[in-house]
Amino acid sequence: MFELLKSDAESKARLGRLTTARGVIDTPVFMPVGTQGSVKALDPRELQEMGTQIILGNTYHLYIRPGLDIIREAGGLHRFINWDLPILTDSGGFQVFSLAKIRKIKAHGVEFRSHVDGTLLFLGPKEAMEIQRLLGSDVAMVFDDCPPHTSTAKEVRAAVERTIRWAKECREQPRAEGQAVFGIVQGGNHAELREECARALVAVQFDGYAIGGVSVGEPEAEMMKAVEHTVPFLPQNQPRYAMGLGTPAQLVELVARGVDMFDCVLPTRVARNGTAFTTRGTISIKAGLVKADWRPIEEGCECFACRNFSRAYLRHLLNVGEILGLRMLSVHNSYLFLKLMSDIRAHIAAGTFTQFRREFVANYVPSQKVLATRGQTAVRGADE
Ligand SMILES: [Zn+2]
Repeated sequence: MFELLKSDAESKARLGRLTTARGVIDTPVFMPVGTQGSVKALDPRELQEMGTQIILGNTYHLYIRPGLDIIREAGGLHRFINWDLPILTDSGGFQVFSLAKIRKIKAHGVEFRSHVDGTLLFLGPKEAMEIQRLLGSDVAMVFDDCPPHTSTAKEVRAAVERTIRWAKECREQPRAEGQAVFGIVQGGNHAELREECARALVAVQFDGYAIGGVSVGEPEAEMMKAVEHTVPFLPQNQPRYAMGLGTPAQLVELVARGVDMFDCVLPTRVARNGTAFTTRGTISIKAGLVKADWRPIEEGCECFACRNFSRAYLRHLLNVGEILGLRMLSVHNSYLFLKLMSDIRAHIAAGTFTQFRREFVANYVPSQKVLATRGQTAVRGADE
């Protein structure tokens, strides 16, 4: 299912190929996030034109709205949203632990109230796998316990034990035809818990492994450590996925640490704030200081927005609340993340990744505001 094509000589970066029921994915890969059955503001044609290989869908949100009956009647999630390429579905664990209003953790799952209308619901390993089977995703994720980064060591240990137990239950559940299932390693910033969780999950034998419990509001150094403490215990010949990360510079650094798959809401979320990613950091288009700035968002970018519109025009659209402005920033930001991954793949193939990494990270100025936005997701439970 996963073929390791090349390992970088000077870092842990890998070039790979993941074969799923609906197509082959070149890794390292970025997966645009279609939380509620749509990558916000982008349509399937645009996504495919900009090189999207796989998108993400979300069990928790789709289960609440529109509900499984509708998706079943449509013939599965791919048909419902008219997307032929692979879909990875998150299990809902992250949302239950960060979004849902009231919850009671039980032996076989979590009782919670919907963040939409307060309905009492239950989601556990069995339910999460059943929903993902009906959605018909190509990669399903196990239902895990994702504790906040402020948890005590004792709480993290309990979450790890529960995660392992639930992972085993998930592994036993029926799956859709050709559906792969990935385990999720928890353990916070505790090296020994990360190792313990990774080893236990590898023993259960999944098709791939995710590093969870990152992007939950922790500082960047801690996030990098969590990844470093997990990767050595994952099999070489299977894909590794860092959940919910990150900024462009973080993606480069995570690839260098041996991660193959990423998903993040940042490209579309910051677009909605009128902010654009560039290879040198973020810039505010909406609050652009120069009203008559006739340059594209980023010189040399070949996305639809940069080929067709100036910063001045986009600034105007954003300031008068025209939807096109928001859409074009979403196009540019998503394209940038996808292009970055394709550049990374080319550099690993050519043996020039380390030089690329050094230059990219040196030129990229991280915005504290953007980093903070990433952290707030889990802490405050935003809608993604
Ligand atoms: Zn562009």
